[in-house]
Amino acid sequence: MTIQNKQTSAAGTHPTALIIGGGVIGCAAAYELGKAGFRCTVLDKGGLAEEASTAAAGMLGAQVETHQPGPFYEMCRASLRMYRDWTDELEQVSGISVQYRTEGILRAALTAEDEQELRGRLAWIQEAAWLGPDEMLRLEPALSPAIRGGLHLPADHQVQPVSLAAALKAALVNQGCLLREWTPAIRLLTEPGTGRVAGVQTSEGPLYADLTVLAAGAWTPGLTEPIGLPLPMFPVKGQCIAVRTDAPLIRSTVFTKGCYIVPKLDGSYIIGASQLEAGFDKRLHTQTIAELYAKAAELLPRMAEAEFVRTWAGLRPGTRDALPFLGAWDGAPGLLLATGQFRNGILLAPVTGRLVKQAALGEQPLLDLTPYAPSRVFRAAATI
Ligand SMILES: Cc1cc2nc3c(=O)[nH]c(=O)nc-3n(C[C@H](O)[C@H](O)[C@H](O)COP(=O)(O)OP(=O)(O)OC[C@H]3O[C@@H](n4cnc5c(N)ncnc54)[C@H](O)[C@@H]3O)c2cc1C
Repeated sequence: MTIQNKQTSAAGTHPTALIIGGGVIGCAAAYELGKAGFRCTVLDKGGLAEEASTAAAGMLGAQVETHQPGPFYEMCRASLRMYRDWTDELEQVSGISVQYRTEGILRAALTAEDEQELRGRLAWIQEAAWLGPDEMLRLEPALSPAIRGGLHLPADHQVQPVSLAAALKAALVNQGCLLREWTPAIRLLTEPGTGRVAGVQTSEGPLYADLTVLAAGAWTPGLTEPIGLPLPMFPVKGQCIAVRTDAPLIRSTVFTKGCYIVPKLDGSYIIGASQLEAGFDKRLHTQTIAELYAKAAELLPRMAEAEFVRTWAGLRPGTRDALPFLGAWDGAPGLLLATGQFRNGILLAPVTGRLVKQAALGEQPLLDLTPYAPSRVFRAAATI
């Protein structure tokens, strides 16, 4: 899809891009497209980044979140390598700190089974070392003495997602990007015959663009199904707790099976996150919150001293094969997909933005997009 030189748009020689969804993925795509000369409009059904992107804990968990080697792990690592420069630039343009922290993650084992699984990862994981219980406790003395050791993942950094979203929004405003909040996309507008996507029908009327980028998170299938692309995607609810302590408990993020605790620069800790497929339901459940807290206290007994701050839930954009949908689909020229980052959308924002820009300009992508092609939906259906 090479549309860089298209002259037909109302904006003169600059091609226009309409980005549906103003979470980190849509905003990162808009930012890169804006830098490449596109005149962008970001459309959101609510305020920008009020869904999964600001429910997130902010871990850049390329090592901790991946369970096998392969293209997805390489995509996570590529994004991690880009992160510091990307956020430095965003901070400079926006004047907003994303609260980047470099202390890394300790992935602790509390059971023999978990220890075995984690030790197995050492065969392929790139930036990890196994630490025994004493070494773990030397790094983080507040950890439970019951830990059996774990992985030290120094490259898995973190940011504050709410600040990241604010920085992205300010950077887009600075670029002259139009932000259309509280304007739901109702359906994609396609040209008869070619199926080319020409824009979108919104609650305020039609909007047209040379390029439409679909980054509507867990809501994406509602827009692709009517044009013949049934995406096997679903919302996966994650509930979190924020607490605060008088004295610092940990410097690194600590993570065990079913629970992580992420220390933030304001002295708070995010305890996350449950995982449940229950449709578009963000209600909080006392039992889930209690279980999460109990797991956090098992890993970090001094959690008992913590002051409760708040709880919340967000809907991760899950996919059946656990891979994002990224790139063009032959059935709908003029459309690019950027969705399905599931548990890793904060981490994957910079690489996704870059890949969207490269696809829009017809450039060689920095990673092979074949595993993420939307058309795999039909291949999978054919092999059943
Ligand atoms: C509890 C929790 C913890 C997490 N922790 C981490 C973490 O530590 N690290 C990490 O990398 N990732 C984490 N994630 C995952 C990460 O948050 C997501 O992968 C990421 O936010 C997805 O971004 P997105 O922009 O695709 O989706 P969203 O942020 O959900 O944005 C989609 C946007 O599209 C808009 N939209 C939807 N439909 C329409 C429509 N019809 N018209 C207009 N707009 C529409 C929505 O309003 C929304 O703003 C976590 C997620 C959760 C829930």
